[in-house]
Amino acid sequence: MERVVLHACCGPCLLEPLDALRAEGFEPLVVYANPNIHPRAEYERRRDVLVEYAASVGAEVVEVPYAPVLWLEATAGLWRTPAERCRACWRLRLALAARVAAERGIDALATTLTVSPYQDAAALDEVAREVAEQAGLAYVGRDFRSRYQDAVRRSKELGMYRQKYCGCMLSEWEAAKARADRDARRAKEKGGAP
Ligand code: SF4
Repeated sequence: MERVVLHACCGPCLLEPLDALRAEGFEPLVVYANPNIHPRAEYERRRDVLVEYAASVGAEVVEVPYAPVLWLEATAGLWRTPAERCRACWRLRLALAARVAAERGIDALATTLTVSPYQDAAALDEVAREVAEQAGLAYVGRDFRSRYQDAVRRSKELGMYRQKYCGCMLSEWEAAKARADRDARRAKEKGGAP
């Protein structure tokens, strides 16, 4: 079976890409390389859910030690420009995963990030291809977004922890603000109804 390093952000996002790649004949080495996640307790919670699920389906996991300073350095100066910030974040995480691929003699790279409809798919694809090319890896670029609803359903059935924000401290704040804005809008609409 051909091996591929599958960068994975969390357990729920691992479900469908792992199955899909296995169905194609790959055996993924799951790499948890996510220094973007804040705070540490959240990082560990997502990791533990992922590790537990991977063990249940016989998938090997490598964790890249948590070093949030790498994310701070990679995104410095980009905090007010989310599109650029996310590109830098993906680049960092995929480059860390690519390093594991080199260490393990694996020559292909994929990511679970492409299951999320909340990421800019075209930009992510561009960044991932660049990282893979620079590392001398083949990019197994698969758009898993059509499987997102299945991932949500299965993660609920499995009772998996499902996070409410992408990962970094800024996304936590942005998600909280979006929820507050939505609630205020709904309250206003309700108040204005006859
Ligand atoms: S929003 Fe998500 S992808 Fe963007 S910088 Fe934060 S953690 Fe990374």
